[in-house]
Amino acid sequence: MAEATPRQGSLLPRPPRAAPLKRMHVDDAGSFPDGSKAAAFLCARCGTRSDWQRIATVSEGKRGIPCPVCNKPLQSAVAWAEGGHRGA
Ligand SMILES: [Zn+2]
Repeated sequence: MAEATPRQGSLLPRPPRAAPLKRMHVDDAGSFPDGSKAAAFLCARCGTRSDWQRIATVSEGKRGIPCPVCNKPLQSAVAWAEGGHRGA
């Protein structure tokens, strides 16, 4: 019988994982006058609250959005925060 080949995972180092995204969760939900779904998000870590914003589905709201403060090193979050979406 042939000798067992080592599994690929044991030969190659695993690439480093990205830091988990810190998300804000729904603080209040409702709808805009035009009937589209809307939600305001709150970060449980830093207390940042987003403005009301349109969400396509309830699932999207439950998933949450990345917190612009807790994810500061992420370029996309920095751009988002600089867009004037800081909490009051
Ligand atoms: Zn936060």
